[in-house]
Amino acid sequence: MPLIVQKYGGTSVGSVERIQAVAQRVCKTVKAGNSLVVVVSAMGKTTDGLVKLAYEISSNPNSREMDMLLSTGEQVTIALVSMALQELGQPAISLTGAQVGIVTEAAHTRARILHIETERIKRHLNQNKVIVVAGFQGITRTEELEITTLGRGGSDTSAVALAAALRADFCEIYTDVPGILTTDPRLVPEAQLIDEITSDEMLELASLGAKVLHPRAVEIARNYGVPLVVRSSWTDDPGTWVISPTPRPRSLVNLEIARPVDDIEFDTEQAKVSMLRVPDKPGVAARLFGEIATQDVDVDLIIQSIHEGNTNDIAFTVMTPILKRAEAVAAAIAPVLRSHKAAETEEAEVMVQQNVAKVSIAGAGMIGRPGVAAKMFTTLAEAGVNIQMISTSEVKVSCVIDNADCDRAVAALHTAFEIEQNKENFTLPPSLPHSLPPSLPPSSPVRGVALDMNQARLAIRQVPDRPGTAAKLFGLLAQHNISVDMIIQSQRCHVINGVPRRDIAFTVARMDAQAAQKMLQQAAAEYGWGEVVLESAIAKVSVVGAGMVGQPGIAATMFEALSQHQINIQMIATSEIKISCVVAQEEGVKALQAIHTAFGLAGSQSIQVPA
Ligand code: ADP
Ligand code: ASP
Ligand code: MG
Repeated sequence: MPLIVQKYGGTSVGSVERIQAVAQRVCKTVKAGNSLVVVVSAMGKTTDGLVKLAYEISSNPNSREMDMLLSTGEQVTIALVSMALQELGQPAISLTGAQVGIVTEAAHTRARILHIETERIKRHLNQNKVIVVAGFQGITRTEELEITTLGRGGSDTSAVALAAALRADFCEIYTDVPGILTTDPRLVPEAQLIDEITSDEMLELASLGAKVLHPRAVEIARNYGVPLVVRSSWTDDPGTWVISPTPRPRSLVNLEIARPVDDIEFDTEQAKVSMLRVPDKPGVAARLFGEIATQDVDVDLIIQSIHEGNTNDIAFTVMTPILKRAEAVAAAIAPVLRSHKAAETEEAEVMVQQNVAKVSIAGAGMIGRPGVAAKMFTTLAEAGVNIQMISTSEVKVSCVIDNADCDRAVAALHTAFEIEQNKENFTLPPSLPHSLPPSLPPSSPVRGVALDMNQARLAIRQVPDRPGTAAKLFGLLAQHNISVDMIIQSQRCHVINGVPRRDIAFTVARMDAQAAQKMLQQAAAEYGWGEVVLESAIAKVSVVGAGMVGQPGIAATMFEALSQHQINIQMIATSEIKISCVVAQEEGVKALQAIHTAFGLAGSQSIQVPA
């Protein structure tokens, strides 16, 4: 009999009537000949309410007590859903995370799942019961059996992890929107439904602010090949399938923490073009990349560091064969872009570096684990490799380095991350659930647009440009469990006391920003780095799509949309399948709307999200 895991979010179980509607759907699914495990969230905004209560008592509530408190929300729902099923004549039993045996690490409020005991669930399934499981919570296997939670939005992760552990046929996430949309319909009502999306794309979107799926749920679906669909609780429409490639076999032990990196990739056919001292005002990136797109030059990574005075630097990489064309465009446009104020003293300058290589670590296990990128930087530092550019995404961290260092870097990374060089040895055990083939003809190079208003920007001025600097800096942040995104080093180099120095900027979650600044100020004093600058009023807008690989002009369209609305771009960072821009916080929503329209993603019908 097929086994399905269904998950219902807060709005979907927000009232007695909605719980009864969920019970009806569950019964219908059982009658159609399926076994069912149902994972539920707390009713409506219950968890928010509990958080608020805690903060009325303490400005810094104890994280263990927080888990004790927040886990109660889901316990209410499981009992009510079970009762509603029993009222319909459907045998059902509710289980907390502890009763199931969802074993997590001891990290309160953000625990990762280590493994899930499946015996009890299987026993009840054999008795033809529907199992109703509390999402978002687990238990430690230390002596004390502590209750843990997985982090806000974590019920999605509970559901997909259960589907992986039970080798379910698929996992359905029922929510208050018709599926995964091109962007958040609360901000852009003309957002459209996406029928299918790859797990790589969804991982980026989820991590860049699309809260329709918890990023860790997507990570598990990708790693274990769990077929995943997001659907509306209010209709029978098919929703959105998240498609994963056939995974390499993995153990179900240390489910969320084993092997964050799957692969080491490298590309030695790269060249880097930097433009120094371009004016810091709206329209500059649009102009540059518009011209580049006209010449049909496909750029790979793009970074724009934070401004220095009233200018900043933009750098990008291209494949070596088209370097000449890219350089010609940059050289032609440089004088036009010159900053008026700086005209007498400074001029935009184009710098080209051939013989660079890009090395990357890839894998779906990097989310929320700052130690992974830090380990890459340390490994490179220990191999004596200097990092020229860094690009991060949810599934990849790439470093641009000198070509001559490439072999050494790749070998060191293979060893550090224990990656077998030969993948051919793996075959898929027949018991693993097979996912749908990754055969998405991308209808549009950009599939979705996301806005993240919960980030802050940190910059450290004048850190030494030598191997080990990134390792030290991001190692420190990792030790404090602070995840970073959009790491950008300025291209401009100042020699101070005989040491070449650059600025390095990155974004962190806003709630981590002050702690990070304080910690980095101490480090800066110790290591002789410059000022540590914090800017909290930022927004990050991103476009995501696997189809943008090898397609010139995507960046240009995005920058042009911002330029037309007079929105200044403070930072740019890209990976193969995403482009992110930092803009001023108050311009975030406008930027999202402008970009969504510019890529033709708006539909003719508005999506209404129920309260
Ligand atoms: P649930 O309680 O069902 O888990 P969430 O509130 O966590 O629901 O997630 C659903 C919400 O995610 C939607 O109501 C919508 O506002 C938001 N959202 C953000 N980005 C997207 C997107 N790209 N597609 C669909 N919904 C999105
Ligand atoms: N109830 C939890 C929250 O609101 C978990 C979830 O809904 O996914 O974050
Ligand atoms: Mg959710």
